[in-house]
Amino acid sequence: MPTPPDIDRLAQLAAPRPEYDGGAGPLAVAPKVFRDELAAAAEWVADYLQEIPQRPVTRPMPSAHRQAMAAGSLPQEGQDLGALLEFVDRAIAPYPTGNGHPAFFAWINSPPSPAGVIAELLATAVNATCGMGEHALMDLERGVLRDLASLAGLEPTAGGVLTSGGSMANLLCLGTARTWFLRQHGVTDGPAYDQAHARLVAYHSDQAHMSVAKAAAVIGLPPWRLRAVPTTPDRSMNVDALRTMVDADRTAGLLPFCVVSSLGSTATGAVDPIEEITQVCHRSGLWHHADGAWGGLGALVPELAPSYRGVAGLDSLTVDPHKSLSVPVGCGAALVTDPSRLRDAFTFRASYLEGDQDWPWMSDYTIELTRPGTRALTLWATLRHLGRSGVAALLQRHQDLAGYMRQRVREHPLLDLCTSGPLPVVCFRLAAHPEAGRQGKTDLHTAVAARVQARGHAYLATVSHDGQTVLRACVCNYLTTTDDVDTLLHEVLAAAEHLQTVY
Ligand SMILES: *Cc1c(COP(=O)(O)O)cnc(C)c1O
Repeated sequence: MPTPPDIDRLAQLAAPRPEYDGGAGPLAVAPKVFRDELAAAAEWVADYLQEIPQRPVTRPMPSAHRQAMAAGSLPQEGQDLGALLEFVDRAIAPYPTGNGHPAFFAWINSPPSPAGVIAELLATAVNATCGMGEHALMDLERGVLRDLASLAGLEPTAGGVLTSGGSMANLLCLGTARTWFLRQHGVTDGPAYDQAHARLVAYHSDQAHMSVAKAAAVIGLPPWRLRAVPTTPDRSMNVDALRTMVDADRTAGLLPFCVVSSLGSTATGAVDPIEEITQVCHRSGLWHHADGAWGGLGALVPELAPSYRGVAGLDSLTVDPHKSLSVPVGCGAALVTDPSRLRDAFTFRASYLEGDQDWPWMSDYTIELTRPGTRALTLWATLRHLGRSGVAALLQRHQDLAGYMRQRVREHPLLDLCTSGPLPVVCFRLAAHPEAGRQGKTDLHTAVAARVQARGHAYLATVSHDGQTVLRACVCNYLTTTDDVDTLLHEVLAAAEHLQTVY
């Protein structure tokens, strides 16, 4: 365990900034200093990423350190650049919640791709403001969105916009669906807009990600007009129930406008029946958005492909390249089969911003104006490095490792497999213990997960499954091997044995 860094001491370490001739102001740095610091940072990055598998998966953050960091500590005088790297090395890098470690199986986190790490730095130097003007990175964004849409299996017309992540992509697509629907009904403004808006209803399955509810709230849909459709035993949307709910709402004088299906539910990796839901949408004039933040590219994996039949019929799709593709964090995508729908929803004019009608600015497709080019370049670089076959091989690798884990769980007399998949997440519980899974004080699974996490050899999370808390392990890391899966299960069993003697 490293000694917690003393932020004040680190601040004192910094030498006063050397005089720099040139009168360029307080941010300027002498070229040689900048070059040396960059080279040192590059060395550090290479070492850090290489050493992750040898480090503990996670390390508890001393509370004094946490408080010192959160307190803010800006000194009066500026400091030498050299203090930055030492600060990151001692105060930041030792305390990630496991992200990037090959034995980290919680949530849906992945390590950064090598290509993405380099691209992030390069794009930061170019610093294109990818919302307006002419930037090669803005055109690259259009191109990489086409590539992503093509990988997902959407129509060649599809395009869209890169976002900070899946939550923002879901928000953009829901907003687009709303504008599209009201325009279809000839409503754009005035009291008629308010009246129609007050009757809008959207649907998702009871397994949908909470970002859908957030997005609905942001576009002005109260909870009672966002319906959670029940699911079948495999956790996918019950389309008969959806049909019944849409019909009932229409009969009641409400305006169903959008269904959000899940392509890879976060809890158990379920995929909703795309084609059947599209049929319901077409029958009643609804927009079909799919949240594929995690599983949006599943059509590339042969064993998943049957579940993705009909993906080209979607109106919009969320994909998070910062999940299964390992693009560095901060890269999501809102893909829309007819991208002009996004522009209908998000183009607003201002005299100080006059774009090109033939090449609309990317700010016309989203609510952001000044946007980073890092998203486009990190995604492009990662896809370039992988190629189409590499993308498929990466997703297949996650799938195979989850298959291996399921097999190991199934074979073990003390473990029971719970419903999960087809995406690469494995939910399981301890079989032998009568208290296993019961909520409350004796919740063994929560205690097992906490003990595994604290030991630092592997990391997994829990999830509520039919009202019981069970263990959940998601494979989303290109560095993970069967050894890491074995380590995880070993840790779970050791923790369970320890705790069962205590409980
Ligand atoms: C992760 C996730 C989101 C949210 O994406 P962020 O990038 O975290 O904002 C939305 N939907 C699903 C299904 C997810 O797994």
